[in-house]
Amino acid sequence: MDPKQKIANAIFPSVTQSLDDLEHRYPPRNLPKGAMVTRFAPSPTGFLHMGSLFASLCSWRYAKQTDGVFFCRLEDTDTKREIAGTGDQVLRELKNFGIIPDENFIDGGAYGPYVQSERKPIYDIVIKSMIENGAAYPCFCTHEELDEMRQRQEALKVNPGYWGEYATCRNLSPDMVLHRIENGDPYVIRFRSPGQSHNKIMITDLIRGSFEMTENDQDIVIMKSDGLPTYHFAHLVDDHFMRTTHVTRGEEWMPSLPIHLQLFDVMGWKRPEYAHLPVIMKMDGDTRRKLSKRKDPEAAVSYFLEAGYPVEGFLEYLMTIANTNFEGWRLQNPTADIFEFRLSFDKMTLDGALFDLEKVKSISKDRLALLSAEEISGRALTWAKAYQPEFAALIEADPKKFSAFMSIERGGEKPRKDYAKFSDIFPIIDFMYPEYYDRYMCDPLPWNETLSKEILIGTLASYVTDPFLDLSESEWFERLKALAASQGFSPSVKEYKKNKEAFHGHIGDFAEIIRIAVSGRKNTPNFYYVLRILGVTEVRRRIQKTIALLQG
Ligand code: GLU
Repeated sequence: MDPKQKIANAIFPSVTQSLDDLEHRYPPRNLPKGAMVTRFAPSPTGFLHMGSLFASLCSWRYAKQTDGVFFCRLEDTDTKREIAGTGDQVLRELKNFGIIPDENFIDGGAYGPYVQSERKPIYDIVIKSMIENGAAYPCFCTHEELDEMRQRQEALKVNPGYWGEYATCRNLSPDMVLHRIENGDPYVIRFRSPGQSHNKIMITDLIRGSFEMTENDQDIVIMKSDGLPTYHFAHLVDDHFMRTTHVTRGEEWMPSLPIHLQLFDVMGWKRPEYAHLPVIMKMDGDTRRKLSKRKDPEAAVSYFLEAGYPVEGFLEYLMTIANTNFEGWRLQNPTADIFEFRLSFDKMTLDGALFDLEKVKSISKDRLALLSAEEISGRALTWAKAYQPEFAALIEADPKKFSAFMSIERGGEKPRKDYAKFSDIFPIIDFMYPEYYDRYMCDPLPWNETLSKEILIGTLASYVTDPFLDLSESEWFERLKALAASQGFSPSVKEYKKNKEAFHGHIGDFAEIIRIAVSGRKNTPNFYYVLRILGVTEVRRRIQKTIALLQG
């Protein structure tokens, strides 16, 4: 028997299937021409990171807009870094954003399993065939031997690593290899690289274009001593047999591309296309740095879900990072579904994309302003149930009332943009609920200190008898101005500025007194609507309560 065959059998005695069997089991996908097969391949090492959401959003869109397939594979071969349960959590979080893979590691699919640790039999078949044809070999070098070799390479000023003449296990005699395997010596399996570090190869990345890189000459480890594959090798096997057409992944994988292309070539498999997506950066003082899982709470997508940012605002923001022409498109199509926009590789940002929280807020405000009162009420309730039960209970106690609060200046040409996220709502409208209003009244009120108690009481007393809430907004305001004039306030700000000494203040100051009495604060949503929704009886109760407080 051929010595390589003997070694392959000694390592994988029970593997009987061949590459052909795998090709039959995972045939090319039957898809329309131009359809992309893309994937998101998280490692179960923690929460869904902003960069991963961005990568999966892009990958998903590329597949969907070409009638292709988007799948999700769990890359769990680094058992030391694994945090139990995080794989499922990541899928759930993606679902929150409406990103639903066609095939995934929970629901399965025809090209599964989609969990790498369950794919060992597949990797074993491939590695066995690579050993048989000389593309891979077992390496018995210990950590100490590898350290010692690295020091030697440093002293000689040659490239570090396992390559060429330093790849000592390349040349072990078959008898020695068999003997050491029988002896139970630990080993890894390495790829036999045909490359040379003085060669340059042309690389094409769909985002970055074509450029030169150094050819790989490293005999990288493809199977670790625990029998599991390394990322480089698992990616080769999985993306080949899952029939991925486009590998869209973070740019941190760019330097590994020469290894991956070489692996595909040695196997005689068609290379997928590669697109290395920009990393998400943030400003830290004056410096720009990568958004860090460890240092930045906003790196976790859950941070935004908890705060109640609307997913469509967040996705929209990520689309602005994804394609430089997205914002122009949005201006032309202000209410169109975000996914009518077609993502393209050549419009992707090349440098790391800068995360801009203010922009997330402003886009979210725009998106929330477009919802009807019913829509925003329903969504605020769903959010509150998960994150702010006290608020949820209030909404549920009287959904109509809450919806009325939410209807203030909603709809029409220029809807108000009060809320960037669902957690902004309650602090803005809580005073509308009598029990919260009463709590505010226990604290000192933010009166204009230049006005005497008598003026405050006079103002409130002038309004309390008839708050004229059956009038239209403009009629109401005219009446308010007349009332202001009768109490020594100027109905016109301009007039007041000309002759400040003649007045206690202007119409704005006058209205502010009533606003503070009714809400406990200086700012509220449109005051006319606030008063109308509260109703005459409650408005009177509040003003009378305030007068009593002022009278001590
Ligand atoms: N599991 C790798 C990671 O989490 C995925 C890289 C890829 O998409 O190929 O970084």
